[in-house]
Amino acid sequence: MNLPLIDLHMHTIYSDGAYTTEELLTKAKNSGLNIISITDHDTIHSIKEAIEIGNDIGIEVIPGVELSTDIEDKEVHLLGYFIDIEHDELKKYLKFFRDERIYRAKRMIEKLKLLGINISIDDVMEISRDSAIGRPHIALALLKLGVVSDYYEAFHKYIRDNGPAYERKIHVSPQSALKLISDAGGLSFIAHPGHLKESVLLSLINAGVDGIEVIHPSHNDYQINFYRGIVNQYCLLESGGSDFHGGAKGDEDNLGKYLITHQRFLDMKSMLHSNDD
Ligand code: AMP
Ligand code: FE
Ligand code: FE
Ligand code: ZN
Repeated sequence: MNLPLIDLHMHTIYSDGAYTTEELLTKAKNSGLNIISITDHDTIHSIKEAIEIGNDIGIEVIPGVELSTDIEDKEVHLLGYFIDIEHDELKKYLKFFRDERIYRAKRMIEKLKLLGINISIDDVMEISRDSAIGRPHIALALLKLGVVSDYYEAFHKYIRDNGPAYERKIHVSPQSALKLISDAGGLSFIAHPGHLKESVLLSLINAGVDGIEVIHPSHNDYQINFYRGIVNQYCLLESGGSDFHGGAKGDEDNLGKYLITHQRFLDMKSMLHSNDD
């Protein structure tokens, strides 16, 4: 039997992906994937539907989420796998985070107003629909209203990090996100660590993260070997995936190309069982 092809990092329209759950699953299937995890930013909206569709078309869907946290003013993404999507505390946290994003979008809209640009929260929510509202939605709203002539101009002129209409998201410590993932029965991973300082990486390992995302499109061979070395040195787990978003990101070809081995996946599962003891 062929070993399963496993990609544990991708996004739907419920965060900043271009495709619906069903479209994403179809693409995953067409790319030959057998086991996937959907890891939307700060939401688990697609998971239930993904598992059902996966059952129908023969793809195993691991419940996942990508939580935004920050350390020293830098955003650090943590992946949670095998989480219980009915876990109360997790659901409460995600709802809180979602509401906070709406307040933040309103603050950015206020800043835009001071710059003479009038867009409303409704203009933005018409684009974000079911997903957690973020800067890409504001950029698309500005584009739609003709304030900017392309998507990137919106970031460049207004909402890039520390841009004139930028507002930070609320601060979430990695420690609280790690606890949340573990309380919900999941395993935690540092997402795409390529941009993180080694001291930050070490502080996350000290804080009890279960593993590191070693395979990611942003990592070169040197980085893959480096992170794999750390995984081995600290007895951590290894995860990986395409971080597929689709659409404007131009990463259509990535699906099916960023994989972890079946053994690494089994290593994860065995940690779940040892947590039950
Ligand atoms: P948010 O979580 O609302 O801060 O939005 C973050 C998302 O905005 C990122 O995942 C990117 O998709 C997008 N983004 C942030 N900065 C830029 C930039 N300078 N140019 C284009 N997209 C950006
Ligand atoms: Fe993203
Ligand atoms: Fe990320
Ligand atoms: Zn991601």
